Amino acid sequence: MRIGVLGGGQLGRMLALAGYPLGLSFRFLDPSPEACAGQVGELVVGGFLEEGALARFAEGLSLVTYEFENVPVEAVRFLADHLPVYPPPEALAVAQDRLLEKTFMQSLGVPTPPFHPVEGPVDLEEGLRRVGLPALLKVRQGGYDGKGQALLRTEEEAREALKALGGQGLLLEGYVPFDREVSLLSVRGLGGEVAFYPLVENRHHGGILRLSLAPAPGVSEALKRKAEDYAGRALAALGYVGVLALEFFQVGEELLFNEMAPRVHNSGHWTIEGAETSQFQNHLRALLGLPLGSTAPRGYSAMVNLIGQKPDFGEVLRLKGAHLHWYGKSVRPGRKVGHITLRRDRPQDLEEALPRLLFLAQAPAV
Ligand code: AMP
Repeated sequence: MRIGVLGGGQLGRMLALAGYPLGLSFRFLDPSPEACAGQVGELVVGGFLEEGALARFAEGLSLVTYEFENVPVEAVRFLADHLPVYPPPEALAVAQDRLLEKTFMQSLGVPTPPFHPVEGPVDLEEGLRRVGLPALLKVRQGGYDGKGQALLRTEEEAREALKALGGQGLLLEGYVPFDREVSLLSVRGLGGEVAFYPLVENRHHGGILRLSLAPAPGVSEALKRKAEDYAGRALAALGYVGVLALEFFQVGEELLFNEMAPRVHNSGHWTIEGAETSQFQNHLRALLGLPLGSTAPRGYSAMVNLIGQKPDFGEVLRLKGAHLHWYGKSVRPGRKVGHITLRRDRPQDLEEALPRLLFLAQAPAV
């Protein structure tokens, strides 16, 4: 059975690696001939809107999924006319737009930071009155890893950011003085079966995820239930199939929804070694209508991203419980080129080894 994946980055690569034990094969569509998933599966090089490339990609596939959320929805709808495509294209359309995703979650009764759409200076003024300062101005579409957004502390900064971000298609958001950021990875199967991974604590630096701690320390039963309830609402409303990642700001015992990713997610990489079933394999199981695997954690994990530099592999592998994932990409500043998951049976052992892990990954103090 051949699975088609839109996008050929590391998420696609890890999907394929998780699918091989199930006897699956993979074909990726990516505009870059260097796409790193091409090292572990067939790569069709072409634009997502090139009909010829889409046709070559779709030939003989059993189903299509994506590993990249900025795939044009038209391309996904075109494929969905011919083949099963999961998660549903509607989920992709919602997740691609910061205004739509926040409005959608709000309509399900999920709290969000205060927000206001901005299509020009008048909206900006009204938004600032409603939301207050400090605030963030974000592009509605296409921003990722902290790109396409600005922190606004003064009205002057707001006016400058409006210009710098293109003047329209923006979202103004109240700045949330959160205690921490957490994410919930959930998975829903073809038959509606649902499973949740434990909440994960995520630390960002410069808008990029640096460190995930799983399970997030100090999560109350009530907070866990709240996150699962919110995710359950989204999964049901979207008729979702596959892994869905939701990111939240935690303030006390409240969770404010920040964003969703209709795909496997960086904050779930720890599941490869740190959970009974990885997010990648559960995504595939969901799409294929197979029983979902247990999402129970195996001990305690910390995942650090390798960003713009190659660590000393020998030193990393010498660290007990460390698992190195190198994506086979060329190293460029700011680029995610790999990750390390450190897994230990006891939380105190993980905590003790954490400084060494951060040092090896040359991660900033987070
Ligand atoms: P985003 O791309 O929207 O996830 O934003 C990237 C990072 O910026 C988040 O992970 C937060 O660390 C920070 N951030 C985004 N929105 C807000 C907000 N409304 N309040 C405080 N921090 C934010």
